[in-house]
Amino acid sequence: MARGRDRFDAHVAAVHALGKDISRRAGSVCELCGGGDDLRVIEVPPMDEEPDVDAAMLACARCRDVIEVKKLPRDTGDLRFLEGAVWADPLPVKVAALRLLRRLAENDVGWAAECLDGVWIPEEVEERLGQ
Ligand SMILES: [Zn+2]
Repeated sequence: MARGRDRFDAHVAAVHALGKDISRRAGSVCELCGGGDDLRVIEVPPMDEEPDVDAAMLACARCRDVIEVKKLPRDTGDLRFLEGAVWADPLPVKVAALRLLRRLAENDVGWAAECLDGVWIPEEVEERLGQ
């Protein structure tokens, strides 16, 4: 058990260590919505064993809630920033935005479905989405 715990701690530390690079990439704002509330680095699956900037992003408290707690806000219009985030350059941001948009579209959110219709998804992104 102790070994698993050590490995977990090492992993958390390694994710934390990405913070500087990711904050620079993000311009120290949430990479999904541009907000600045309680920013933290989160991992965006699929992850390798070693944390990597291509599988992590900077996210604010609200976006972490939506991504990790898998709880959609009552007013899904609050998430329309995803229409812009989906065009972001960093791979993990694109992947996270697309996953959320698909979840919204599955919940019959019209603007999310429309946005997905209009977005071109590169193959490498599509591969990651399936994982
Ligand atoms: Zn955010």
